[in-house]
Amino acid sequence: MLDTLQNKLEDLVPTLSQLSPQEGLSLLAQQFEGKIIFSTSFSWEDQVIAHMILSQSLPVKIFTLDTGRLFGETYYVWSRTNELYNTKISAYYPNQEHIERFVTEKGPNSFYESVENRKSCCYIRKVEPLKRALAGNQLWVTGLRAEHSPERGDLPALEWDEGNQILKYHPLLHWTTEEVKEFINKNGIPYNTLHDKGFVSIGCLPCTRAIQPGDDFRAGRWWWEDKASKECGLHAHS
Ligand code: SF4
Repeated sequence: MLDTLQNKLEDLVPTLSQLSPQEGLSLLAQQFEGKIIFSTSFSWEDQVIAHMILSQSLPVKIFTLDTGRLFGETYYVWSRTNELYNTKISAYYPNQEHIERFVTEKGPNSFYESVENRKSCCYIRKVEPLKRALAGNQLWVTGLRAEHSPERGDLPALEWDEGNQILKYHPLLHWTTEEVKEFINKNGIPYNTLHDKGFVSIGCLPCTRAIQPGDDFRAGRWWWEDKASKECGLHAHS
């Protein structure tokens, strides 16, 4: 299976480089039918991808990780998206026993106390549910964009994710923020209004804040930690 997927990767890379995100999604939806899944956090870029999938009824499963600590605005966009596209985005939650034990032992806001606590919280609320969501699939569609971090500049649009043993496709990798906004406006797509208030990426409420123009993308996440520790384990290279 591994060899087959890696061979597919080699075959698809040159083809995808000639296609638009919409065309790329259509092609991969056909080739990986039943085994292709898109993770959304309802960010601007994720809403663009959701629109491309849902407005064309592409056979791509869509899920979100509800950490239990999201912004009210995020739940609003989730509901609006379900209504507008007449769909039901799948929700994945933290393992009940693990989250109950963690919060009981450490308290509700222990992520501010140490990197270890923060990483445990991210693992329980995001990484483990993500692994459950991806299980049994062969291709994972994400909203990663190169603009979000220097490490993402050289990323291929289609890559092999060794940690999760899955192919990953980033259709909007080379889109600018302006292109994303333009697509949202042109197509009347519901989006998270926190983006209008300086939030570039929107995760959990206690760990996300707005940034100032010119600030590093990561200034809005886990700002109390050293730069080096800032990753949550969802995307190994980010
Ligand atoms: Fe926990 Fe913060 Fe990570 Fe969310 S971002 S899972 S609240 S540490």
